Amino acid sequence: DTTHGVILYLEGITVSFDGFKAINNLNLAIDKGELRSIIGPNGAGKTTMMDVITGKTRPSAGTAFFGQTIDLTKLNEAQIAHAGIGRKFQKPTVFEELSVFENLELAMKTDKGIWSSLFFKLTGEARSKIEQKLELIRLKEQAHRPAGLLSHGQKQWLEIGMLLMQEPLLLLLDEPAAGMTDEETERSGELFLELAGDYTLVVVEHDMDFIKQISARNGKVTCLHEGHVLAEGSLEQVQNDERVIEVYLGR
Ligand code: ADP
Repeated sequence: DTTHGVILYLEGITVSFDGFKAINNLNLAIDKGELRSIIGPNGAGKTTMMDVITGKTRPSAGTAFFGQTIDLTKLNEAQIAHAGIGRKFQKPTVFEELSVFENLELAMKTDKGIWSSLFFKLTGEARSKIEQKLELIRLKEQAHRPAGLLSHGQKQWLEIGMLLMQEPLLLLLDEPAAGMTDEETERSGELFLELAGDYTLVVVEHDMDFIKQISARNGKVTCLHEGHVLAEGSLEQVQNDERVIEVYLGR
């Protein structure tokens, strides 16, 4: 398939903390437009892997490429964000006193800088971009409410919208369904399926119902354990893998 080149490529990545290998010879390839779920027990190395991709942690060995040419191990966090990798942590961080609309406005990349952008009149183009994102994240009706009044799930969507304002190519999401109601979780799944294709998503998650929902359209699942890939494939393949069962059920 020539339309779907690899967007993220990790090979032989190792991260050591005082001799302990949190990541141990990790290989991972994500295709453009994929919606990839990352699972694995606590301590498997999921967070450390995200830290390597975003430049927060330097690997002690291995290669990490974004697209064909961007060597992630040579860039700092800001450069990686600028190159088009957006990360969302578990806890939503929105500006509570500002409206939903203003939060998105603030997150927009402008050549004047994000703070000064507040003091300029919005162009029609910028406004329609915000409105398009509002629709996508299902917050059109809340546009002029203070973000502090949103539900936990709505704050998570707003933060995703804020990430999208920067036009990332790859989105890394850390347990996006945590703390959501069942209804919010399902709506998040719908949102992720909608985003896949236009964006590439890598989602670390524990909620298996949510993973089932987001991997329904050929989404691949990767199971990490002890810093490397234990199993990879469809959810069914991974769930039925004996090594995965052993790790989750304990020895
Ligand atoms: P996960 O996100 O899958 O739960 P982590 O990436 O957080 O796993 O951690 C993987 C392993 O690395 C764990 O054993 C953890 O204790 C260890 N670890 C993570 N960060 C550090 C650090 N800064 N210093 C020492 N050990 C760490």
